[in-house]
Amino acid sequence: MAKGEDVYVSLAPSYVANYKNISFATMEDAFRKLGFAGAGETALGATIVTEKYDDLVDKSNGKVIISSCCHSVNLLIQKHFPECLDHLAPVLSPMQAHCQMLKAEHPGAKTVFVGPCIAKKEEAERPELSNSDMHDVDLVMSTREFAYMMQYTGIEFDKLEESEFDSLMGESTGAAVIFGTTGGVIEAAVRTAYEWVTGETLEKVEFEQLRGLDGIRSGKVQVGDLELNIGIAHGLGNARKLLDGVRDGTYDFQAIEIMACPGGCINGGGQPYHRGDSSILEARKNAIYQADKDLPIRKSHLNPSIQKIYEEFLGKPNSEIAHKLLHTTYCAKK
Ligand code: SF4
Repeated sequence: MAKGEDVYVSLAPSYVANYKNISFATMEDAFRKLGFAGAGETALGATIVTEKYDDLVDKSNGKVIISSCCHSVNLLIQKHFPECLDHLAPVLSPMQAHCQMLKAEHPGAKTVFVGPCIAKKEEAERPELSNSDMHDVDLVMSTREFAYMMQYTGIEFDKLEESEFDSLMGESTGAAVIFGTTGGVIEAAVRTAYEWVTGETLEKVEFEQLRGLDGIRSGKVQVGDLELNIGIAHGLGNARKLLDGVRDGTYDFQAIEIMACPGGCINGGGQPYHRGDSSILEARKNAIYQADKDLPIRKSHLNPSIQKIYEEFLGKPNSEIAHKLLHTTYCAKK
């Protein structure tokens, strides 16, 4: 910013867990006052990625697909469970996908991801997770670092106004917001998969069987003629146990979501400290589900911003260009 370059923020959905009743438009005003050119919600990246997951599960012929939204889990698989690499979805993370979109919309601009995750700092540096010679994400700032920045500059939330959304960056959906809590990635994918496969409107979008805080859990979901058996784990110890089972063929899951932090991203290493107070985590989880309920659009594929992104950049879901931009590979690492 000091060099006069435009810098855009990609803001992770879990901000709603930290800033109760603060809209995204207000957050964007904060970023503009800090000197950023604008901000968008990482949730848009999550929405695009969701559609890719649905396609993968659809074409998997029964092979279990593991979500790759959590960089720590991706590293765990790459380093300690290489036998499971074939199951890891070869898809960019929402952060990478969204920052790529921001750069496509603002050529020459830099991007900063602001979110709960410290592992994203490492992810942003990985050249194999970028689809171009340039990094999609130029800097990662934790939500705690953002809070310090606000404190240091003396910007107060109650004096902020609501910014106007930029063209492609505004709308979010409930499906993308719930990515911040355990089970949210897979629930978002199921909301879209149901309507794509059956052609019917999904009236009840909450899949309670996928929610909760059990470390390893499973839930069945009926999608047309297909009964999907879904596995979910959160916390690294549980992640290891579930991956052991995948490696040994113990489970009969078609899709698996694993998040490294207990509770999911709401409990990421870059979040404000809760010092072991589980009621804070509970409140963050509830804030996420409330934000989902309050949003007018709760299914990824109905997001008008996404429809515009397809019109202007990607053609249609799972087009050749969408595949090229969103596809990545994960290989064994030491
Ligand atoms: Fe990062 Fe934790 Fe979220 Fe994984 S679960 S993406 S490590 S904040």
